[in-house]
Amino acid sequence: MREQLEQIRSRALAELAAEATESAIEDVRVRVLGRAGELTEIMRGMREVPAQERPAIGQLVNQIKTELEARIEALQGKLKEAALERSLTEARLDVTLPGAKIPRGHLHPITLTIENMLRIFNAMGFEIVATRDIEDDFHNFAALNFPPDHPAREMQDTFFLGGGLLLRTHTSNGQIRVMEQRRPPLAIVCPGNCYRRDELSVRASPMFSQIEGFMVDRAGRITMAHLKGVLTEFLRAFFGSDTAVRFRASFFPFTEPSAEVDISCLLCGGKGCRICKHSGWTEILGSGMIHPNVLRAVGYDPAEYQGFAFGLGVDRTALLRLGVEDMRLFFENDVRFLGQFPASNERFA
Ligand SMILES: [Zn+2]
Repeated sequence: MREQLEQIRSRALAELAAEATESAIEDVRVRVLGRAGELTEIMRGMREVPAQERPAIGQLVNQIKTELEARIEALQGKLKEAALERSLTEARLDVTLPGAKIPRGHLHPITLTIENMLRIFNAMGFEIVATRDIEDDFHNFAALNFPPDHPAREMQDTFFLGGGLLLRTHTSNGQIRVMEQRRPPLAIVCPGNCYRRDELSVRASPMFSQIEGFMVDRAGRITMAHLKGVLTEFLRAFFGSDTAVRFRASFFPFTEPSAEVDISCLLCGGKGCRICKHSGWTEILGSGMIHPNVLRAVGYDPAEYQGFAFGLGVDRTALLRLGVEDMRLFFENDVRFLGQFPASNERFA
């Protein structure tokens, strides 16, 4: 019996060598230590062992059992460690690889242009006031000195909404809305969308952005010289300090005298090219001293107050500033086009 046990032990230990595979280990465990294993069989046959030998045999069985269990545990531990090591090497995470880039959107170039323009006016002391897109005839036309039969009303191709309402054709309604409610001194810019029945084309769009600006104070305090100073300062801040600015006499119903403002062509720098029709100049905004009839319409006495106003088309200005050749690109929302413009205002700085 003792001999048989020693055989079981040495055979099992030989099989449980350092290089034993997981299945070899499991085989030994089942064959020797299992419920129907060799050691269990021996314990069952204990009855035939002489009584005085039983304790020694029993002890030996337990000793072999403990020894083999410890050996199996050690081998299995080593195998587990090796497996972990292998998986760490194979599925190595390279922390130096660049991360996946998350695409970031940014504001539309027109919005960026408006913000940049407003920042310049704001720095000059102008207050920003938003007014309304849906307007009545009085605030869009009559108060701005357009008589009922004035050709400009047709020229502007208004979208009428019924009930005496319309979509504003310019941001000049902001001038009327603000002056109706407040008294000078005023230095205000009103940004917003305007609407005219134009086809969307290379140069025009039925919806466009404008910034209306005006400054009103006691008569004699605000003159045409202030108008020229403010607009020249703005245009140089926006287009660059070497931009040439020229004022040309013009006509608008709501200003007298009126002036259109040109800047030196951004493409040719004044030498003359196709875009500026070889004049070297680009028309950029309309301006003038606020017409006495406009002041009367909001209850100001023209003998007491005086001021200037200007209207600046944002889309066309953005077009020139960003070197975009087709207005339609601003409205198509093709991210390949929009993505070319800076995520911040850096490029405008
Ligand atoms: Zn030019």
